[in-house]
Amino acid sequence: MEEELQRLRNEAEARLAQITDPEELEPFRVEYLGRKGRFTGLMRSLGQAPAEDRPRLGKLANESRAALEDAFSARREALAAAAPAAGQRPDLTLPGRRFPAGRMHPVSQVMAEICAIFAGMGFAVAEGPDVETDFYNFEALNIPPHHPARAMHDTFYVDAGRLLRTHTSPMQIRAMEQARPPLRMIAPGKVYRCDSDITHTPMFHQVEGFLVDDKVSFADLKGVLSEFIARVFDPQTAIRFRPSFFPFTEPSAEVDIGCVICGGKGCRVCKQTGWLEILGAGMIDPAVFAKVGYDPEEYSGFAFGLGVERIAMLRYGINDIRLFYENDLRFLRQF
Ligand SMILES: [Zn+2]
Repeated sequence: MEEELQRLRNEAEARLAQITDPEELEPFRVEYLGRKGRFTGLMRSLGQAPAEDRPRLGKLANESRAALEDAFSARREALAAAAPAAGQRPDLTLPGRRFPAGRMHPVSQVMAEICAIFAGMGFAVAEGPDVETDFYNFEALNIPPHHPARAMHDTFYVDAGRLLRTHTSPMQIRAMEQARPPLRMIAPGKVYRCDSDITHTPMFHQVEGFLVDDKVSFADLKGVLSEFIARVFDPQTAIRFRPSFFPFTEPSAEVDIGCVICGGKGCRVCKQTGWLEILGAGMIDPAVFAKVGYDPEEYSGFAFGLGVERIAMLRYGINDIRLFYENDLRFLRQF
């Protein structure tokens, strides 16, 4: 008897859960809960049970029935809430809703374009880890501990020996360790510095490039960068090299282009100079070659590094770098 009661309740609950059409509710109610329904029938047969069991079984039957009635009411309400009111049935002739299509982030677009330009000049593309060791990020690049250049980098340290890379130059070391010249490579990727304002974000993108062979000269560097700038901006863009200092190159230069906003006449963006700093470059320092076991007498090479956001900002006339990372679709959809 007890088992029968349990089986009936399970069966009824399973059927109830499958009902999706409100019109099926009433037949269900009649079959299970009606005056001639199966629960009522079972309760009537209680009279045949032994007298001492009857109170317990009666209580159990009442509880089961009450539970099923509650479940029935809940189901009826749920279906009523889900059902469209009369006159609001879906119009099947309406065209489907279009999902908004995503698109490439402007920084990714410019990054892909930069990589394509260098790939066209025979540079291989290499990627490395975002978490670097102090050795690859600094020491091998001729920046020993306590060197003042470390202060310029505003480094995020993970622990004593590991950090988030402050530039993609470590790939230069990793690549040179694994192969002998000739090497022609670019290393695009994310870099991290503890800095945030209108022209800095704590994470930004850099493309590091280098070329090592015998008899590589500064003229080769100038040729490659001139070609790059002509392609990424405009063939008429003016270029100048300014002497500078980087620990890993000697001599070093900063490369400026004629202001793309004012055409060199002077404006707010170029601070009235007519020039915009666009990248850093130089001939690889013999001390760096020594770290990877290259003979500086045998090989020479150049390296350069450029900020992808910087180029994207100049290309699209964006004046605040933080816009790239606010994920505002009104901004991102413009590209
Ligand atoms: Zn200007």
